[in-house]
Amino acid sequence: MKYGCIHTHTLFCDGNSDVETNCRAAYEKGLNCLGFSSHAPIRKKIEKTGWVIKEELLNDFLSEGDLGQYIDEVNAAKLRWEGKLKVFLGLEADFISGITGPSDSDFAKMGLDYIIGSVHFIIPPKGNPFTVDSPLAELERGIREGFDGDPQAMVDFYYDALAALVGQKGFDVLGHPDLLKKHNANNRFFDEDSAQYKKRCEEIAALAEKNKVTVEVNTGGMNRKYIKSPYPSGNFLKSFREHNVPAVINADAHKPEDLDGYYAEAVAAMLAAGYTEMVLFEGKKNGLPVWTKVKL
Ligand SMILES: [Zn+2]
Ligand SMILES: [Zn+2]
Repeated sequence: MKYGCIHTHTLFCDGNSDVETNCRAAYEKGLNCLGFSSHAPIRKKIEKTGWVIKEELLNDFLSEGDLGQYIDEVNAAKLRWEGKLKVFLGLEADFISGITGPSDSDFAKMGLDYIIGSVHFIIPPKGNPFTVDSPLAELERGIREGFDGDPQAMVDFYYDALAALVGQKGFDVLGHPDLLKKHNANNRFFDEDSAQYKKRCEEIAALAEKNKVTVEVNTGGMNRKYIKSPYPSGNFLKSFREHNVPAVINADAHKPEDLDGYYAEAVAAMLAAGYTEMVLFEGKKNGLPVWTKVKL
């Protein structure tokens, strides 16, 4: 099959299954490759980090800067599945201004095949930090307490962070670029069709082109039944296309069944945005990611 998934979570963070079970499922589904992208640990303690890497690994990381068991297990799976399924070792690293980012020196020495750079966290001017993909009530509280009830201020914070991430480099795939739309059905918080919003998306796409970033078309929100379209939305994806930003389809799977979930919808979204091809990850060569182009 021409598809892969390099955005996968296991029991090492908030996924529900282990490395081997995911490999078997990917193989049975006929995927070309499977990349593990556990949520990266964060050195500085911030509130609400329940879904990040499990405690023993965090302790390893804090004491030795390593992620021993995770790295060992994925590397062992690479060998076990050689010739049948390409397995890659990655991380999904948060960007939080002044706190952590994919280009932190910690990650460089882990021998990773790739890093997905994502923005989840909002550290508002006041109140507690929250993630844009929190349950709805938490997001509402974050906007109320952190931004005086002004969703646009949160949108601005999010896109400022995303622009800083894309400007920083140090990662290989830009994760779910409009994650903040998770609870925005019927434009509950902000108008995705407004000129102002489109302009922000356009700026991100231009920056991604300039810095040679690959974006993902992420069906995770569909797999988990939160939203009815992939990240990024149609207009945003179109901006990426217009800027010739390559796109990889990922399931952001938290369980093996979802490894190719809603890929037909992702392909349809890409075609609608004007893409004629997607890219598949082939690993790293001389420190640079290698992608093959595949017709949609
Ligand atoms: Zn994520
Ligand atoms: Zn993820």
